[in-house]
Amino acid sequence: MPMAAPSISAIPATSALAPLKDSHGRVIHDLRVSITDRCNYKCVYCRTGEVGAQYPELAFDEYLRLIELFVGLGITKVRLTGGEPLLRRDLVDLVRELKRLRTVEGEALDLAVTTNGHLLESLAQPLKDAGLNRITVSMDAVDAPAFERITRVEGSFSKVLAGIRSARAAGLTPLKVNCVLLRGFNDDQIEAFARFAREEQVVVRFIEFMPLEEGRLWTPEIVVTLREIVDRIGRTLPLVELPPREASETARRYTFSDGVGEIGVIAPVSQAFCGACSRVRLTSDGKIRTCLFSQVEHDLYGRLRAGASDQELRAYIAGTIRGKEARHHIGEPGFLKPSRSMVHIGG
Ligand code: SAM
Repeated sequence: MPMAAPSISAIPATSALAPLKDSHGRVIHDLRVSITDRCNYKCVYCRTGEVGAQYPELAFDEYLRLIELFVGLGITKVRLTGGEPLLRRDLVDLVRELKRLRTVEGEALDLAVTTNGHLLESLAQPLKDAGLNRITVSMDAVDAPAFERITRVEGSFSKVLAGIRSARAAGLTPLKVNCVLLRGFNDDQIEAFARFAREEQVVVRFIEFMPLEEGRLWTPEIVVTLREIVDRIGRTLPLVELPPREASETARRYTFSDGVGEIGVIAPVSQAFCGACSRVRLTSDGKIRTCLFSQVEHDLYGRLRAGASDQELRAYIAGTIRGKEARHHIGEPGFLKPSRSMVHIGG
Protein backbone atom coordinates (compact mmCIF):
# COMPACT_ATOMS: atom_id res chain seq x y z
CA MET A 1 0.00 0.00 0.00
CA PRO A 2 1.50 3.41 -0.91
CA MET A 3 2.35 5.53 2.10
CA ALA A 4 1.28 9.07 1.37
CA ALA A 5 3.27 11.48 3.53
CA PRO A 6 1.00 14.05 5.17
CA SER A 7 2.06 17.65 4.68
CA ILE A 8 3.94 19.01 7.70
CA SER A 9 1.26 21.57 8.50
CA ALA A 10 -1.34 18.75 8.61
CA ILE A 11 0.54 16.86 11.36
CA PRO A 12 -0.68 17.79 14.84
CA ALA A 13 1.90 18.64 17.51
CA THR A 14 2.68 15.85 20.02
CA SER A 15 0.89 17.73 22.78
CA ALA A 16 -2.32 17.51 20.72
CA LEU A 17 -1.91 13.73 20.28
CA ALA A 18 -1.25 12.77 23.93
CA PRO A 19 -2.71 11.09 25.91
CA LEU A 20 -3.59 8.34 23.46
CA LYS A 21 -7.35 7.98 23.31
CA ASP A 22 -9.57 5.90 21.08
CA SER A 23 -12.87 6.96 19.59
CA HIS A 24 -14.71 5.14 22.40
CA GLY A 25 -13.13 7.37 25.05
CA ARG A 26 -10.67 4.79 26.38
CA VAL A 27 -7.22 6.06 27.36
CA ILE A 28 -4.50 3.72 26.09
CA HIS A 29 -1.49 3.55 28.40
CA ASP A 30 -0.40 -0.07 28.17
CA LEU A 31 1.84 -1.27 25.31
CA ARG A 32 2.64 -4.96 24.71
CA VAL A 33 5.62 -5.56 22.47
CA SER A 34 6.47 -8.92 20.96
CA ILE A 35 10.22 -9.13 20.41
CA THR A 36 10.15 -12.50 18.64
CA ASP A 37 7.50 -14.95 17.50
CA ARG A 38 9.83 -17.92 18.04
CA CYS A 39 9.11 -20.11 21.04
CA ASN A 40 10.98 -23.00 22.64
CA TYR A 41 7.70 -24.63 23.75
CA LYS A 42 5.08 -26.25 21.55
CA CYS A 43 2.12 -26.05 23.93
CA VAL A 44 -0.49 -28.30 22.42
CA TYR A 45 -3.35 -25.79 22.73
CA CYS A 46 -1.30 -23.00 21.13
CA ARG A 47 0.97 -24.50 18.48
CA THR A 48 0.68 -27.02 15.71
CA GLY A 49 4.25 -28.22 16.38
CA GLU A 50 6.48 -25.71 14.59
CA VAL A 51 8.81 -23.62 16.74
CA GLY A 52 10.39 -21.35 14.11
CA ALA A 53 9.59 -17.75 13.30
CA GLN A 54 6.81 -16.88 10.87
CA TYR A 55 7.49 -13.15 11.00
CA PRO A 56 10.71 -11.12 11.03
CA GLU A 57 12.22 -9.64 14.18
CA LEU A 58 13.49 -6.10 14.49
CA ALA A 59 16.82 -5.02 15.94
CA PHE A 60 16.61 -3.84 19.55
CA ASP A 61 17.40 -0.22 18.67
CA GLU A 62 14.39 -0.30 16.32
CA TYR A 63 12.03 -1.57 19.05
CA LEU A 64 13.51 1.07 21.31
CA ARG A 65 12.78 3.84 18.84
CA LEU A 66 9.22 2.65 18.26
CA ILE A 67 8.54 2.23 21.99
CA GLU A 68 9.93 5.71 22.66
CA LEU A 69 7.37 7.14 20.23
CA PHE A 70 4.52 5.45 22.11
CA VAL A 71 5.91 6.61 25.45
CA GLY A 72 6.02 10.19 24.18
CA LEU A 73 2.26 9.83 23.58
CA GLY A 74 1.34 8.71 27.08
CA ILE A 75 2.21 5.00 27.36
CA THR A 76 3.30 4.27 30.95
CA LYS A 77 3.46 0.46 31.00
CA VAL A 78 5.45 -1.70 28.60
CA ARG A 79 5.28 -5.49 28.61
CA LEU A 80 7.80 -7.46 26.52
CA THR A 81 6.44 -10.72 25.23
CA GLY A 82 6.53 -13.10 22.28
CA GLY A 83 6.90 -15.92 21.16
CA GLU A 84 9.34 -16.44 23.99
CA PRO A 85 11.10 -13.14 24.80
CA LEU A 86 13.91 -14.79 26.80
CA LEU A 87 15.11 -16.38 23.56
CA ARG A 88 16.39 -12.97 22.46
CA ARG A 89 19.96 -12.43 23.50
CA ASP A 90 20.56 -8.95 24.93
CA LEU A 91 17.07 -8.80 26.45
CA VAL A 92 18.69 -7.48 29.63
CA ASP A 93 20.24 -4.61 27.64
CA LEU A 94 16.87 -3.75 26.11
CA VAL A 95 15.29 -3.61 29.58
CA ARG A 96 18.12 -1.38 30.81
CA GLU A 97 17.62 1.01 27.86
CA LEU A 98 13.86 1.06 28.34
CA LYS A 99 14.35 1.92 31.98
CA ARG A 100 16.08 5.14 30.91
CA LEU A 101 12.95 6.38 29.11
CA ARG A 102 10.63 8.78 30.90
CA THR A 103 6.85 8.94 30.63
CA VAL A 104 5.05 12.17 29.74
CA GLU A 105 4.79 12.71 33.53
CA GLY A 106 8.57 12.30 33.90
CA GLU A 107 8.40 8.90 35.60
CA ALA A 108 10.26 5.68 34.79
CA LEU A 109 8.22 3.14 32.82
CA ASP A 110 6.46 0.25 34.52
CA LEU A 111 8.32 -2.61 32.80
CA ALA A 112 7.14 -6.23 32.68
CA VAL A 113 7.96 -9.43 30.81
CA THR A 114 5.75 -12.44 30.04
CA THR A 115 7.71 -15.68 29.71
CA ASN A 116 7.30 -19.42 29.81
CA GLY A 117 10.08 -19.35 32.44
CA HIS A 118 12.26 -22.01 30.80
CA LEU A 119 15.33 -19.74 30.69
CA LEU A 120 14.43 -17.59 33.68
CA GLU A 121 16.53 -19.11 36.44
CA SER A 122 19.77 -17.39 35.41
CA LEU A 123 18.10 -14.29 33.95
CA ALA A 124 15.81 -13.23 36.80
CA GLN A 125 18.42 -11.33 38.82
CA PRO A 126 20.05 -9.61 35.79
CA LEU A 127 16.58 -8.54 34.59
CA LYS A 128 15.73 -7.17 38.01
CA ASP A 129 19.07 -5.33 38.17
CA ALA A 130 18.40 -3.84 34.71
CA GLY A 131 15.17 -2.30 36.02
CA LEU A 132 12.44 -4.85 35.30
CA ASN A 133 9.51 -4.31 37.67
CA ARG A 134 7.43 -7.44 37.15
CA ILE A 135 7.40 -10.80 35.48
CA THR A 136 4.55 -13.12 34.58
CA VAL A 137 5.31 -16.79 34.09
CA SER A 138 2.95 -19.00 32.08
CA MET A 139 2.38 -22.46 33.49
CA ASP A 140 -0.54 -24.70 32.64
CA ALA A 141 -0.09 -27.58 35.12
CA VAL A 142 1.57 -28.08 38.50
CA ASP A 143 2.13 -31.77 37.92
CA ALA A 144 5.40 -32.47 36.04
CA PRO A 145 4.18 -35.17 33.59
CA ALA A 146 0.99 -33.21 32.81
CA PHE A 147 3.05 -30.05 32.25
CA GLU A 148 5.46 -31.80 29.90
CA ARG A 149 2.61 -33.31 27.90
CA ILE A 150 1.39 -29.76 27.31
CA THR A 151 4.73 -28.08 26.48
CA ARG A 152 6.05 -31.13 24.56
CA VAL A 153 9.47 -30.42 26.10
CA GLU A 154 11.08 -32.93 28.43
CA GLY A 155 12.30 -31.53 31.75
CA SER A 156 10.30 -28.33 31.28
CA PHE A 157 8.51 -28.46 34.64
CA SER A 158 11.67 -28.39 36.77
CA LYS A 159 13.13 -25.58 34.63
CA VAL A 160 10.02 -23.42 35.03
CA LEU A 161 9.75 -24.09 38.76
CA ALA A 162 13.41 -23.09 39.17
CA GLY A 163 12.67 -19.95 37.12
CA ILE A 164 9.73 -19.03 39.35
CA ARG A 165 11.78 -19.49 42.51
CA SER A 166 14.68 -17.50 41.10
CA ALA A 167 12.36 -14.61 40.10
CA ARG A 168 10.89 -14.56 43.59
CA ALA A 169 14.35 -14.58 45.17
CA ALA A 170 15.36 -11.69 42.89
CA GLY A 171 12.45 -9.66 44.22
CA LEU A 172 10.38 -9.69 41.01
CA THR A 173 7.26 -9.73 43.17
CA PRO A 174 4.32 -10.04 43.36
CA LEU A 175 5.04 -12.84 40.94
CA LYS A 176 2.18 -13.86 38.68
CA VAL A 177 1.74 -17.33 37.23
CA ASN A 178 -0.78 -17.52 34.38
CA CYS A 179 -2.61 -20.75 33.58
CA VAL A 180 -4.86 -21.28 30.57
CA LEU A 181 -7.53 -23.85 31.36
CA LEU A 182 -9.11 -26.20 28.82
CA ARG A 183 -11.95 -28.50 29.77
CA GLY A 184 -11.06 -32.18 29.83
CA PHE A 185 -7.43 -31.33 29.36
CA ASN A 186 -5.90 -29.55 32.37
CA ASP A 187 -8.95 -28.50 34.40
CA ASP A 188 -8.07 -31.26 36.89
CA GLN A 189 -5.24 -28.92 37.99
CA ILE A 190 -7.46 -26.13 39.37
CA GLU A 191 -7.42 -27.08 43.06
CA ALA A 192 -3.71 -28.01 42.97
CA PHE A 193 -2.96 -24.57 41.47
CA ALA A 194 -4.78 -22.91 44.38
CA ARG A 195 -2.50 -24.78 46.80
CA PHE A 196 0.54 -23.93 44.64
CA ALA A 197 -0.32 -20.22 44.91
CA ARG A 198 -0.16 -20.45 48.69
CA GLU A 199 2.90 -22.69 48.94
CA GLU A 200 5.02 -20.84 46.37
CA GLN A 201 3.75 -17.37 47.34
CA VAL A 202 2.73 -16.53 43.77
CA VAL A 203 -0.46 -15.03 42.37
CA VAL A 204 -1.99 -17.72 40.16
CA ARG A 205 -4.25 -16.33 37.46
CA PHE A 206 -6.49 -18.59 35.45
CA ILE A 207 -7.19 -17.39 31.93
CA GLU A 208 -10.13 -18.44 29.81
CA PHE A 209 -9.07 -20.05 26.55
CA MET A 210 -9.62 -17.77 23.53
CA PRO A 211 -9.90 -18.72 19.84
CA LEU A 212 -6.30 -17.71 19.08
CA GLU A 213 -4.65 -21.09 18.57
CA GLU A 214 -2.80 -22.13 15.41
CA GLY A 215 -5.05 -25.17 14.96
CA ARG A 216 -8.81 -25.47 15.43
CA LEU A 217 -9.45 -26.50 18.98
CA TRP A 218 -11.64 -23.72 20.38
CA THR A 219 -15.31 -24.33 21.11
CA PRO A 220 -17.45 -22.55 23.71
CA GLU A 221 -17.64 -25.85 25.63
CA ILE A 222 -13.86 -26.15 26.05
CA VAL A 223 -13.70 -22.82 27.93
CA VAL A 224 -13.61 -23.21 31.71
CA THR A 225 -15.40 -20.09 32.90
CA LEU A 226 -14.69 -17.76 35.80
CA ARG A 227 -17.82 -18.89 37.62
CA GLU A 228 -16.84 -22.53 37.42
CA ILE A 229 -13.23 -21.91 38.55
CA VAL A 230 -14.31 -19.86 41.55
CA ASP A 231 -17.00 -22.37 42.54
CA ARG A 232 -14.63 -25.32 42.31
CA ILE A 233 -11.84 -23.76 44.36
CA GLY A 234 -14.36 -22.40 46.84
CA ARG A 235 -15.56 -25.93 47.62
CA THR A 236 -12.17 -26.85 49.12
CA LEU A 237 -10.64 -23.45 49.96
CA PRO A 238 -13.25 -20.73 50.56
CA LEU A 239 -12.49 -17.56 48.57
CA VAL A 240 -13.02 -13.89 49.37
CA GLU A 241 -13.20 -11.44 46.43
CA LEU A 242 -10.72 -8.51 46.53
CA PRO A 243 -11.59 -5.05 45.19
CA PRO A 244 -10.07 -4.00 41.83
CA ARG A 245 -6.99 -1.75 42.13
CA GLU A 246 -7.63 0.11 38.89
CA ALA A 247 -10.47 0.42 36.38
CA SER A 248 -8.54 -1.34 33.60
CA GLU A 249 -7.62 -4.35 35.76
CA THR A 250 -8.37 -7.48 33.74
CA ALA A 251 -8.32 -10.04 36.57
CA ARG A 252 -11.02 -10.62 39.18
CA ARG A 253 -8.95 -11.15 42.34
CA TYR A 254 -9.61 -13.42 45.31
CA THR A 255 -7.84 -14.31 48.51
CA PHE A 256 -8.49 -17.30 50.73
CA SER A 257 -10.56 -17.07 53.90
CA ASP A 258 -7.40 -17.00 56.07
CA GLY A 259 -6.04 -14.09 53.98
CA VAL A 260 -2.99 -16.09 52.83
CA GLY A 261 -2.39 -16.09 49.08
CA GLU A 262 -4.14 -14.70 46.03
CA ILE A 263 -5.64 -16.07 42.85
CA GLY A 264 -7.17 -14.23 39.93
CA VAL A 265 -9.36 -15.11 36.99
CA ILE A 266 -9.09 -13.37 33.63
CA ALA A 267 -12.35 -13.96 31.79
CA PRO A 268 -12.16 -12.43 28.30
CA VAL A 269 -14.77 -14.90 27.03
CA SER A 270 -17.46 -15.18 29.73
CA GLN A 271 -17.06 -11.66 31.16
CA ALA A 272 -15.34 -9.58 28.51
CA PHE A 273 -13.63 -6.44 29.78
CA CYS A 274 -13.23 -4.60 26.44
CA GLY A 275 -14.93 -1.49 27.82
CA ALA A 276 -11.99 -0.97 30.18
CA CYS A 277 -9.26 -2.00 27.72
CA SER A 278 -6.17 0.21 27.91
CA ARG A 279 -3.94 -1.84 25.59
CA VAL A 280 -2.29 -1.67 22.25
CA ARG A 281 0.13 -4.20 20.77
CA LEU A 282 3.21 -4.08 18.60
CA THR A 283 4.09 -7.32 16.80
CA SER A 284 7.66 -8.59 16.43
CA ASP A 285 7.73 -7.22 12.88
CA GLY A 286 6.59 -3.76 13.96
CA LYS A 287 2.86 -3.81 13.16
CA ILE A 288 0.37 -2.13 15.47
CA ARG A 289 -2.59 -4.27 16.55
CA THR A 290 -5.31 -2.41 18.40
CA CYS A 291 -7.03 -5.60 19.61
CA LEU A 292 -6.01 -9.27 19.92
CA PHE A 293 -8.84 -9.97 17.47
CA SER A 294 -8.10 -7.17 14.98
CA GLN A 295 -8.66 -8.07 11.35
CA VAL A 296 -6.19 -5.41 10.21
CA GLU A 297 -2.64 -4.52 11.19
CA HIS A 298 -0.96 -1.16 10.84
CA ASP A 299 2.58 -1.11 9.50
CA LEU A 300 4.41 1.28 11.79
CA TYR A 301 7.83 -0.20 11.06
CA GLY A 302 7.22 0.08 7.30
CA ARG A 303 6.71 3.80 7.78
CA LEU A 304 9.85 4.09 9.86
CA ARG A 305 11.82 2.28 7.13
CA ALA A 306 10.31 4.57 4.50
CA GLY A 307 11.87 7.52 6.34
CA ALA A 308 8.88 8.98 8.19
CA SER A 309 9.81 11.56 10.82
CA ASP A 310 9.10 11.00 14.51
CA GLN A 311 6.26 13.49 14.32
CA GLU A 312 4.72 11.67 11.34
CA LEU A 313 5.06 8.34 13.15
CA ARG A 314 3.43 9.75 16.29
CA ALA A 315 0.53 11.07 14.26
CA TYR A 316 0.19 7.65 12.62
CA ILE A 317 0.15 5.89 16.03
CA ALA A 318 -2.44 8.29 17.44
CA GLY A 319 -4.66 7.96 14.33
CA THR A 320 -4.42 4.16 14.43
CA ILE A 321 -5.38 4.05 18.10
CA ARG A 322 -8.38 6.29 17.48
CA GLY A 323 -9.73 3.47 15.31
CA LYS A 324 -9.41 0.79 18.03
CA GLU A 325 -12.26 -1.74 17.91
CA ALA A 326 -15.04 -1.31 20.48
CA ARG A 327 -14.88 -4.96 21.51
CA HIS A 328 -14.19 -8.50 20.38
CA HIS A 329 -16.90 -10.84 19.11
CA ILE A 330 -15.79 -14.22 20.49
CA GLY A 331 -18.59 -16.78 20.37
CA GLU A 332 -20.90 -14.62 18.25
CA PRO A 333 -22.18 -15.73 14.82
CA GLY A 334 -19.80 -14.50 12.13
CA PHE A 335 -16.81 -14.28 14.51
CA LEU A 336 -13.60 -14.26 12.47
CA LYS A 337 -10.34 -15.54 13.86
CA PRO A 338 -7.50 -13.06 13.38
CA SER A 339 -4.89 -13.86 10.74
CA ARG A 340 -2.23 -14.38 13.44
CA SER A 341 -2.41 -16.75 16.38
CA MET A 342 -1.47 -15.76 19.94
CA VAL A 343 2.19 -16.78 19.67
CA HIS A 344 2.65 -14.61 16.56
CA ILE A 345 0.78 -11.62 17.96
CA GLY A 346 2.37 -11.51 21.41
CA GLY A 347 0.35 -12.69 24.39
N1 SAM B 1 6.16 -17.43 25.69
C1 SAM B 1 5.60 -16.50 26.63
C2 SAM B 1 4.75 -17.23 27.64
O1 SAM B 1 4.64 -18.46 27.55
O2 SAM B 1 4.22 -16.57 28.52
C3 SAM B 1 4.83 -15.36 26.01
C4 SAM B 1 3.91 -15.65 24.86
S1 SAM B 1 2.54 -16.72 25.22
C5 SAM B 1 1.72 -16.72 23.66
C6 SAM B 1 1.58 -15.69 26.27
C7 SAM B 1 0.42 -16.33 26.96
O3 SAM B 1 -0.62 -16.56 26.04
C8 SAM B 1 0.70 -17.65 27.64
O4 SAM B 1 0.28 -17.55 28.98
C9 SAM B 1 -0.18 -18.61 26.91
O5 SAM B 1 -0.65 -19.62 27.76
C10 SAM B 1 -1.31 -17.70 26.48
N2 SAM B 1 -2.12 -18.23 25.38
C11 SAM B 1 -1.71 -18.84 24.26
N3 SAM B 1 -2.77 -19.17 23.48
C12 SAM B 1 -3.87 -18.77 24.17
C13 SAM B 1 -5.27 -18.83 23.90
N4 SAM B 1 -5.73 -19.36 22.78
N5 SAM B 1 -6.12 -18.31 24.81
C14 SAM B 1 -5.65 -17.74 25.96
N6 SAM B 1 -4.35 -17.65 26.24
C15 SAM B 1 -3.47 -18.15 25.38
